[in-house]
Amino acid sequence: MNMDQSWKELNEELGKARALEEAEILFEWDNETLAPPAAMEYTARTMERLAGMYFRIMTGDRLGELLEKCRDRQGTEEEQAVLRAAEKKRRELILVPAEEYEAYSGLKARASALWARARKAEDFERFAPALEEIIACRKRFAAGRAKEGQSLYDVMLDEFEEGFSSEKLDRFFALLRKELVPLLEQIREKGTEIPCSFLQGGYSGEGQEKLAEYLAKYLGFDFERGVMGVSAHPFTTALHSRDVRFTTHYDSRVDHSLFSVIHECGHGIYEQGISPLLVQTAAGEGASMGMHESQSRFYENMIGRNRAFWEPVYPRLQELFPGCLGNIDMETFYRAVNRVEPGPIRIEADELTYSLHIMVRYELEKGLIAGEISVGDLPGLWEKKYEEYLGIRPQSVSQGVLQDIHWSQGSIGYFPSYALGSAFAAQIYGYMNKEMDMEELMRTGRMDVIREYLREHVHQYGKRKNSREILREMTGQEFEPAYYVEYLKEKFRRLYGI
Ligand code: ZN
Repeated sequence: MNMDQSWKELNEELGKARALEEAEILFEWDNETLAPPAAMEYTARTMERLAGMYFRIMTGDRLGELLEKCRDRQGTEEEQAVLRAAEKKRRELILVPAEEYEAYSGLKARASALWARARKAEDFERFAPALEEIIACRKRFAAGRAKEGQSLYDVMLDEFEEGFSSEKLDRFFALLRKELVPLLEQIREKGTEIPCSFLQGGYSGEGQEKLAEYLAKYLGFDFERGVMGVSAHPFTTALHSRDVRFTTHYDSRVDHSLFSVIHECGHGIYEQGISPLLVQTAAGEGASMGMHESQSRFYENMIGRNRAFWEPVYPRLQELFPGCLGNIDMETFYRAVNRVEPGPIRIEADELTYSLHIMVRYELEKGLIAGEISVGDLPGLWEKKYEEYLGIRPQSVSQGVLQDIHWSQGSIGYFPSYALGSAFAAQIYGYMNKEMDMEELMRTGRMDVIREYLREHVHQYGKRKNSREILREMTGQEFEPAYYVEYLKEKFRRLYGI
């Protein structure tokens, strides 16, 4: 069989896998948005079957043979990216040994259910044994894949963000600790009260919906190739670059829904910007978790929490909510949506303290995998670290160690990519500022210029480049966390007059 024939057959096989994946994505979307409650159990069964079929194709001998045959084929860059991405997906799935796949899926489902119950009951002990099992499994799988001298936690980190080892992350978080913890202390000592009560109450769902649509269009989300829905927890998903979906929720706090729309649009604009040459292929997705998060945070923070952005947009907001904001000037609004308020909950964190929440999780999961920390130590260490970094103590385990679902789903090594995303975003912003007057573009509403620039240098590549290559080729530098720290210091010192 010649190579072109093998390539054709490989794409046929990957096409089947992709079709199953898209069906799953669509069911997930439906579950979160419109599906009737009584359908859940039946949909779950269907999704399980689809996942099983997908797993069998992706880990099957047939795909293995075809990938092998095509390995040395000299294709276009896109074709080579598809090959690499398919191989990586296969490796990740094989990561769970076939004979353990079902048992591990069962364990995750059980652990997530126990986590939810433990959280509700404020009882960490109920969840602890399941978490121990999850950790043991993850360590066993990682050990099977570890390269000579590689730590198990590094194997896990690499699954989520290629090339970011704990050595690199230790340096990154050490810098955040050294620079941001004292800055937060200074802000707290200064004690400036920034009024924000006007962000709460009186914002109708209808008004928030109009605002969400307006903002999405304004930022450049394309409704010909995307839709917006409503769900309890906002998220973005994509079948491919021609079908990108995000949700919002309407909240009594207008800034919650407002910034979640901007955040999800950042994810959505990324997906819509991926090259049409990669549509419906294994490489037609964002480069990595961290790079995806960099785009959402770029829009949410560097743009959405910038004074210049609001100059043309704030009057529109006042028009939509005259009762709430008619007498509030833009500066007051700007300060309110940027105020620093350390709290126990990660997903409600402000821009400055967000990465400190991640740092706590990074240190704990790294210690757990290395065997330096036991599961029983977690609640106490959690409180201690929150006290040390954020100056607060969570009042309960639901507000503390049990607030995130990730560990119960086996996602260990995932959290750092949230902080990396913020740091990537700051590096990209720092670089773009040298190339163009970003604030002037925002002030004059030229969001298209910013979007097109990101499309050209980040979005179009999908998985053709990894996050390090994107940063290096765009900014001319390797990953450099100093941008992030400088950006935060500059912004919050000014805001608080320090
Ligand atoms: Zn996000």
